Amino acid sequence: MIRNLSLMILLLTMLACNSSETTNEESKSQDTPEEQSPQKIPRYALVIHGGAGTIQKELMSEEKETAILKALNAALTVGETVLKNGGTSMDAVEATIMVLEDTPYFNAGKGAVFTNEGKNELDASFMDGRTQNSGAVAGVTNIKNPIRAARAVLEKSDHVMLAREGAEIFAKEQGLEIVDPEYFYTERRWEALQKAKQQELGSILSENPIDYKFGTVGCAALDQFGNLAAGTSTGGMTNKRYARIGDSPVIGAGTYANNNTCAVSSTGHGEYFIRYVVAHDISAMMEYGNKPFQEAADLVINKKLKEAGGNGGIIGVDKYGNVAMPFNTAGMYRGYVKPDERVVKIYKE
Ligand code: ASP
Repeated sequence: MIRNLSLMILLLTMLACNSSETTNEESKSQDTPEEQSPQKIPRYALVIHGGAGTIQKELMSEEKETAILKALNAALTVGETVLKNGGTSMDAVEATIMVLEDTPYFNAGKGAVFTNEGKNELDASFMDGRTQNSGAVAGVTNIKNPIRAARAVLEKSDHVMLAREGAEIFAKEQGLEIVDPEYFYTERRWEALQKAKQQELGSILSENPIDYKFGTVGCAALDQFGNLAAGTSTGGMTNKRYARIGDSPVIGAGTYANNNTCAVSSTGHGEYFIRYVVAHDISAMMEYGNKPFQEAADLVINKKLKEAGGNGGIIGVDKYGNVAMPFNTAGMYRGYVKPDERVVKIYKE
């Protein structure tokens, strides 16, 4: 009898800890260590990126800058609306990334870069910080919003990553919108491919031989229940070949979320982000080394990765609602929103 009672108490305690019903207001008094987060946990927080790279004010037209700021703001508004109305971080991340995928300015969905063969092959991933469930698609060519397919893999399959035709069949079976691959064509990305090929042949000289402009999109969010989620979507790298897959669909590298630590989405030279398992490394420093989010994120991006020669950045939010957006490139399209705060930025300060 006593044994059954203690078992029940244990069960109830576990349930209370995992409960997705607990709001941030209730949970902060239970487990907010003063030294890490003396401030009040915001009811919600959502952070995005639209890629990092050689993004310089001198090289940016006013028109493009305005359009990008507008798109970033529109995405933040969509995500914030979900969270404000009591929606989950999962729903907010999906809705936000869909806006960015549908905008031709970013290298994801409409606006994705071209492979060497002149195709658009898209990758995306999604992670639920509450359950650690994860989903990803790689090398897909006809799914309008790959982030939705990644979430479907997470929720509706027994797997974590599906690739190419198989992923496309699965997405169709799930009732997701399938488009003609032509849908992803944009003049600007086509020209970028031609330029990359000419550079490869040495027929034109680039002022910057590693002129990478990563335009991947990503989002991380904390909802009022204390649940974290993150997602990333990309066209990969211009002129990629041999069915190259980058970090964006790789859980732990391009995307990671864990309710005990943080939710992170990466952008940059994918090969480095995979080698250094960037998103998970930040979480691990917090979990095992007790480092604050900003410090862990800075260390990985501005020290480990930079010293190795890996260009890029991450955006993310921790379980206390602290946002970090470090990058080691000239710029990164980025922004975040909390109940009384909104920030959108492009260049280094
Ligand atoms: N990380 C992406 C990749 O390597 C590129 C990007 O961030 O734009 O595929």
